[in-house]
Order: sequence, then C-alpha cells, then structure tokens
Amino acid sequence: MIQVFKFGGASVKDAEAVKNVASILKNYATSSTIVVVSAMGKTTNQLEQLVNAFFYKEGNPTEHLETIKQAHLSILNTLIPDTKHQVYIDFENIFVELLWAIEEEPSFSYNQEYDQIVGLGELLATKIISAYLNTQAIANTWLDARGLIQTDNTYREGKVDYELSQALVSSQLLPHFKTIPIVITQGFIGGTSENYMTTLGREGSDYTAALLAYFTNAAKVTIWKDVPGVLNADPKYFKNTRKIDELTYQDAIELTYYGVSVIHPKTIKPLQNKNIPLYVKSFLNPSDEGSVVKDTEKRISITSYIFKVNQILLSIQPKDFSFIAEENLSAIFKHLSHFDVQVNMMQNSAISFSICVDNDVHKIPHLIQTLQYDYKVLYNEPVELMTIRNYDQDIITKLSENKLVLIEQRSRYTHQMVMKALD
Ligand code: ASP
Ligand code: MG
Repeated sequence: MIQVFKFGGASVKDAEAVKNVASILKNYATSSTIVVVSAMGKTTNQLEQLVNAFFYKEGNPTEHLETIKQAHLSILNTLIPDTKHQVYIDFENIFVELLWAIEEEPSFSYNQEYDQIVGLGELLATKIISAYLNTQAIANTWLDARGLIQTDNTYREGKVDYELSQALVSSQLLPHFKTIPIVITQGFIGGTSENYMTTLGREGSDYTAALLAYFTNAAKVTIWKDVPGVLNADPKYFKNTRKIDELTYQDAIELTYYGVSVIHPKTIKPLQNKNIPLYVKSFLNPSDEGSVVKDTEKRISITSYIFKVNQILLSIQPKDFSFIAEENLSAIFKHLSHFDVQVNMMQNSAISFSICVDNDVHKIPHLIQTLQYDYKVLYNEPVELMTIRNYDQDIITKLSENKLVLIEQRSRYTHQMVMKALD
C-alpha cells in the first residue's frame, strides 16, 4: 500500500520543525511512503524577492541570496553538526548554481528566470531533510522531482504531461520501494523536455502530492498543516472557526476555488478521478482526527467564509459606446489571459464589465494600460472580496456592517460581495 505525505513550508520552517517531521514519519510512515516537501518557511517569498532584485533591479540579489543561505545553513548545522557530511557539498552546489545564475544579465523571460531560481527552495529543503532523516535511521531515498513531473514550458504554471510523468514515476520512483520504505521529493517543481525547471503555481506542492498519488494508485494522501484540518473560515480573519470533519470532493473543489487556501485547488481532481481520500491533519497534534476529503454523501451544511483582501475592482467600459457583448468580452479576456490575471468575480451590465482581481503590482498596471486603448477603465482599490457558502441574510448583513458593498452576486449556495471599508 502506497501513501503520500505532504509537508508544507510551515512544517519545515526551522530545525525543531524538521525534527517534528522526523517524529511523524517514525510514527506514521508505512513502507512505501512518498514524502513531498515544500521550501522551508517563507523561502519561496524570499526567492521571489531575489528574482525581482535580479530581473527588475529592485535591490541587491546577492544580499537576498546571503540571507537565504545563512538561514538554511543554520538549520543544517543544527540538524547535522558534522560539516564533513556529503550534504554540505550538495548544499554549496545549489548556491554556486544560484550565484552563477544571477551574475549574468537575465537572458530568458521573467517567468522562465523565476522558475530556475524559485524552485531551488524545494531542492534545498529536501536535500537537508533527506540527509537528516538518514542520520536518524529513517531510511529514505532523495529523488529529483524534475525527473518525475514533466511539464510543458508554461513557466510558473507548468502544464503537466500526465502520460510522460506517469511513465517516469513508474520507472524511476516505484522500484525504490523494493529496497527502501521512504522516497522523499520536492513539491511545486517539474522539468521540461529541454531540462529547464518549471513550477506548478504558488502553493503547488499539494498538487504534486496529488499527482504522485494518482500515478502510483496510492491508498491515501495526507497533507500535514499548522491548522487542525479544513476550517470553515480563516482564523486570521475570523474568531470562531469550526473544523469540517468530512467533505465531498465537490465541496473541496468549490471551497478551494473561492480561495480556501488550506488545499491547493488543483489537488482535488486527480484524487477524485481515482477515488483516493485526502486527509488534512495537524503536524502539531498528529494523533488528532483532522479532516478528510472523500467520496461521501455528506455535503457541508455549516456556513463557510472565504475572505480575500488586497483586491482591485475594475470597471471596463467600451469607449465607442458599443455594448458589452461577445466581441468586447472576448477581447477583454484575451488581455486577461495575456497578463495572466485570474478573475475572482465578475459582473456585467449593458455598457460596463466589472471584474474583481488580485491587486498584483507587477500585472495590473500593465493590464489597465493596455485596456485603456479601447476602454475607459475605472478602478477601486483596495477592496475586499467576501464569499459566503450556505449564507443567510443575517450573516450578509453582519459581514457588510461598516462596509460599502460595491457589487454583489448570489446563487443558491454562494453569496459574494466586493466591499470597501467605510472610514
Ligand atoms: N514553496 C512553494 C510556495 O510557497 C510551493 C508550496 O509551498 O506549495 O508557493
Ligand atoms: Mg510554501
């Protein structure tokens, strides 16, 4: 029986956290466990800053590199004090490669440069953790996910070649289980046919775990989190959250689609297709129940709240007084897709089309500038997007207190509103 464990950044954020992962593996790993690991703590964000420093000349890239290197080195020193261990050579090699990459002027597109650099966070984390586990008699083999998950060259959002990846997982991963109980690999990254690194989208390690489960017909996937399971609201914004013990695949897809961040949206489909249950459990209290996503009759009956901040509401109006219809809509969506902007909510009237999107400073100003050739673009920022599943009027009234509701939309189960704080 194969199972897949996924450990995210928070679960490996420092040496103590890695020791906790080791104890979870001691207690819960069975023979044939695939362990998928993300970059440590906030490393991915730091690597993004490094890329921006390098590509957009926003600061000094080597300073970012030093910060990242020192943080990892201190974790490694604590876990493996013997600096003659092979892992120190692997560690240095990753940084030598990184240094080379940023010494020259950028030669690829931003997205391609991004992937070559940002994906190193996962390689670093897994090198350190795999070596540490071996020193703790938790026998494991380190595998490079770039040789397992094959993607096209859509950088930062690599599209997985299922057939090729399936074949690679069968021939390169599965045979290890004949001799060793644990295989450890990176989440989030893949490789192209030309051996470039790709990433699967931010927070994409869950998706890697789901893919590996799918390719190996695993019995289950467990995502180890810093929360007790899937909650009905983000504790960052809401006081009285409740754990949802059991979810259907459908409910999980919808919640993640609207922005519940505990599971990456792409994770569910591959698992649903093979009916593989997904457990979300706390790495702090590993013996607690957690939540399970599986084929069940039980639809969620409690109210869930999904809150997105740092949004911008754009109102797009044709300059030529044509109506908002097929032609304008398809032109607008072409621009959205070109600038890689995802729509979180949309609404149209005869002469105006409104969209609520993440206010990404690297994308939105370019999008607006381009749209302005043919459209008058009005915008409102910062705004918040609130999605309520299983709503009632009292809840809506309460949540929109002291807010100006700019647009709202309701269907049978879901209510959404774009709001601005009243000052
Ligand atoms: N390290 C990557 C990120 O932070 C992937 C992941 O955490 O799933 O986006
Ligand atoms: Mg992460």
